[in-house]
Amino acid sequence: MKSALYLADKLRPMKNIAVIGSGTMGNGIAHVFAQYGYSVSLIDISDEALKKAIATIEKNLDRQVGKQLITADAKRSSLENIKTFTSTEQGVKNADLVIEAATENADLKLKIFKDLDGFCKPEAILASNTSSISITKIAAATKRPDKVIGMHFMNPVPVMKLVEVIRGYNTSDGVTATIMQLSRMLEKTPVEVNDYPGFVANRILMPMINEAIHSLHEGVAGVEEIDTVMKLGMAHPMGPLQLADFIGLDVCLFILNVLHDGFGNPKYAPCPLLVNMVQAGHKGVKTGSGFYQYTAGNKELVVAPRFKK
Ligand code: NAD
Repeated sequence: MKSALYLADKLRPMKNIAVIGSGTMGNGIAHVFAQYGYSVSLIDISDEALKKAIATIEKNLDRQVGKQLITADAKRSSLENIKTFTSTEQGVKNADLVIEAATENADLKLKIFKDLDGFCKPEAILASNTSSISITKIAAATKRPDKVIGMHFMNPVPVMKLVEVIRGYNTSDGVTATIMQLSRMLEKTPVEVNDYPGFVANRILMPMINEAIHSLHEGVAGVEEIDTVMKLGMAHPMGPLQLADFIGLDVCLFILNVLHDGFGNPKYAPCPLLVNMVQAGHKGVKTGSGFYQYTAGNKELVVAPRFKK
């Protein structure tokens, strides 16, 4: 790995990063910035959530030390670079960049961005890690829409190389260039896209998952058969039904509804089987059952597909 501090030094103006939400994505984003020498304020609504996030970051840094990707010293300095806050106002006041990774809920994000606009320095860039909510709509909650942008990291953040950089309708060229460059500093590969429903990643992924569910629903093939076709035939590391279980079937349904509403095109209508499964509480790995069953929600322990042909 290249010297984290050297890379960070090249982007002097961007020194203080605040991350809002310390869940799956927020703790990964904090981990990566801290590892590359940035000063990170990690913000969540409770001390309990923040403690859990720091424990997760430490465990993931230990894994990197174990694989000799980083040294024990780098682990220590990464942890020292992260401070935690339950007050957003306190956590963001010195931030050059805020990355919001709170729960996927449009009203919540609009409120967070309206507050950030008041709390942050006028020159601070405000980014969202949203998977599906319009960046243009989020930006409109602020008086600085030119400085609002999407920074869509992939899960797990320390491992996945892609950052989908989403330009809202008013995002400036300069802010886009800064975020593209910053992503490269983190040794990620940024891809610039415009703000339309699902951006690129989910616009392509979710219809594929929906079509896999339709194939199951219509009895074309069983769960394992569909996943095997896509794994062995298309060299996908995981079949679409298992991937849907990992993402969360409620999340897939939410994003399909965003595509359906946003484009007004019936081709994005969620399969009725997906709707039923979510309503019945079968949301995938997190509930212990989706297209497959999982022991105690543990993603490692796939017991059996729930549907046989
Ligand atoms: P999560 O549920 O794991 O974490 C969300 C965190 O936000 C929770 O800890 C919650 O307490 C916190 N939060 C809620 N309201 C808050 C507030 N007002 N201030 C501070 N913290 C608050 O969710 P996640 O999976 O990490 O997703 C976060 C965002 O990242 C969402 O927008 C999601 O669409 C996006 N995303 C998720 C994935 C994924 O695979 N999980 C991938 C890409 C993008």
